Amino acid sequence: MPHLIELTPSKKDCLQGCMAHMAAVAVAQIAEDGRLIDANLGFRRLTRHIQIGAGEQPDVRDFFVNPSFDELLAIHTRPGQPVFEGILNVADLHSVCRSLIGSVHHFDQKLMVIAEYDVADMERLNAEVITLNLELAELQRSLSRTNRNLQASEERLTQLSITDPLTGLANRRHLMDFLQQAWQRSQRFASTFSVIMADIDFFKKINDQHGHEQGDVVLKAVATQMQAMARKVDLVSRFGGEEFVIVLQEAPLSAAVEMAQRLRQAVCELQFEPMPQGVTCSYGVAQFATGQTVEQLLKHADEALYQSKHDGRNRVTARP
Ligand code: GH3
Ligand code: MG
Ligand code: MG
Repeated sequence: MPHLIELTPSKKDCLQGCMAHMAAVAVAQIAEDGRLIDANLGFRRLTRHIQIGAGEQPDVRDFFVNPSFDELLAIHTRPGQPVFEGILNVADLHSVCRSLIGSVHHFDQKLMVIAEYDVADMERLNAEVITLNLELAELQRSLSRTNRNLQASEERLTQLSITDPLTGLANRRHLMDFLQQAWQRSQRFASTFSVIMADIDFFKKINDQHGHEQGDVVLKAVATQMQAMARKVDLVSRFGGEEFVIVLQEAPLSAAVEMAQRLRQAVCELQFEPMPQGVTCSYGVAQFATGQTVEQLLKHADEALYQSKHDGRNRVTARP
């Protein structure tokens, strides 16, 4: 319950100014004939946004249900005292009733209403807003969860589309993209790169003698070995059945040959239980030369590899 306020004209102006924008407080000045002279947002909201201003002064007498407008006018008190203090029952044009708590003053042929919304009503509205906000927050959380999952799925799909399922190495498609990028870099920065093409020797025999599954075990072991020995910036890919291509960035031919020799040695040392003789690979190495295409570079590496096969396998040949 608001306490009685002794309203002097200056206090009245000040109060009105302060409350003009407070939506939970209704402030209005009404002429004795019922015309609304001025009202804040809170009062206008209660009366369903009666348009005021621009010369319009709607009649709000019917707005006051209990006490009625006429009853308010009929009350006489000492100057400065409110003509009414307590619960005001009001109803808008659509007959939606609300309770306000406040006071009504009568001076200068005007009624001045200063009241606040029914607290229970406000609390109910607040509770609804809080519930809606919680629901909204939950929706936003679930949306961002879905987005994260979607992003992860997309990344997994992309990864799958560029990976060889058996060995986990980059597949041929990834290799070709990577080579194109290396090619573009070499154009822009006048840098170089090399490729090593490797092919398992007599792999068909391994399949025939030990079964296709053992063939797969060998493929995976060779792939793992090559991947383990490559630098992070290089790409190890499965080019075809038992063929691999390694792209060495910023590496001249000599560095690539050295790497191929180390790979050759490491593959020879791999041990497989049913194959005491182990496995070997043949290698062809080529360095990118200005003016070359990616396909020509691969062809050169393939020719060098063919030479290694021809010369007895388990060796490295560099394309001069
Ligand atoms: P070379 O020394 O001349 O390279 O002889 P090779 O027997 O290794 O070569 P060839 O091209 O005759 O045989 C390759 C074999 O690789 C034939 C094919 O069945 C086998 N192969 C291709 N992909 C796979 C695979 O994913 N798993 C297994 N186990 N075998 C494969
Ligand atoms: Mg082979
Ligand atoms: Mg082959």
